[in-house]
Amino acid sequence: MKAIYIEQTGGPEVLKYGDMPKPELVAGHALVKVAASGVNFIDTYQRSGLYKVPLPAVLGSEGAGTVETGTQFKKGDRVAWAMARGSYAEYALVPESLLVVLPDAVSFKDGAAAMLQGMTAHYLVHSTYPLKKGDTALIHAAAGGTGRLLVQMAKLAGARVIGTVSTEAKALLARDAGADEVILYSSQDFVAETRRLTEGKGVDVVFDSVGNTTLMKSLDCVRPRGMAVSFGQSSGAVPAFEPLLLAQKGSLFFTRPVLVQYIADRKELEWRAADVFSWIAEKKLVLRVEHVYELAYAAQAHRDLEGRQTTGKLILLI
Ligand code: NDP
Repeated sequence: MKAIYIEQTGGPEVLKYGDMPKPELVAGHALVKVAASGVNFIDTYQRSGLYKVPLPAVLGSEGAGTVETGTQFKKGDRVAWAMARGSYAEYALVPESLLVVLPDAVSFKDGAAAMLQGMTAHYLVHSTYPLKKGDTALIHAAAGGTGRLLVQMAKLAGARVIGTVSTEAKALLARDAGADEVILYSSQDFVAETRRLTEGKGVDVVFDSVGNTTLMKSLDCVRPRGMAVSFGQSSGAVPAFEPLLLAQKGSLFFTRPVLVQYIADRKELEWRAADVFSWIAEKKLVLRVEHVYELAYAAQAHRDLEGRQTTGKLILLI
């Protein structure tokens, strides 16, 4: 089968397009013919070696397609998944515990685009810090893949949203997603702006996917006893800090969550996926699949994502 794989870690140039053995069915898994595969930062971290994977490795952490063989799922079932590696390929072996049925109303492209970032936005807004009417959330990279979905879900939950973006074009996209206020953090001091927009009080929660360049300042945007959620590092790793800092910043709660722990339970996985898919079908949640590539061009997708060139979601069509 055709696949994108790595034999060594490094830059986008280590991604190889070629033939790999079709996976063989093992217990607890389904063999899925992949139709679309989502591109995510985690794939770039596995490619660069930041996250270790055994080599050679087929990359790709989410996808949608049709079951070939399985135990709990049968041939022809339309399915989608996230957090199982191997979707940059014509076939993927996926733990059935991570598979969900893809409703007919949702295309393979949207299914692959929605799973990882959609369920991430869902757990952040509904479990990590359950947002409600009257809350204010600061969301960095609000025009990004996860960012746009977070903005929309925070608005659906009734919160006021302050988004940050680097360009005017991205500001339009963040507003289009529903952000009440948008800060150009490339030219404006986002701490001062957030303080001004909240009359000095600070936000109830900050969702920070940017990491290195933002996180320490994000702590200054949160109200006393509010929460700082560090869920990503698109600009690089967050520096270490003493817990005492959280006391000094106002008895803050700090968490560094990951999706796997929020979909470990089958009920939770199905709850999040069902909400995401039904909101897409009802058009309450608008996906923007802005960048579509053929499988062979995965390296370009990685360059674009890491180069800050993208908005919304990147997809490989298989
Ligand atoms: P995005 O689509 O948000 O892309 C990254 C965005 O970050 C860019 O578009 C850019 O927006 C901003 N950014 C700021 N500084 C940089 C930089 N130096 N280089 C690149 N981008 C920068 O990506 P995702 O939504 O896919 O992922 C964002 C982060 O969240 C990643 O670290 C990812 O691993 C993490 N993540 C974590 C999950 C979890 O469960 N913990 C799940 C999903 C994602 P702008 O130009 O507006 O600044």
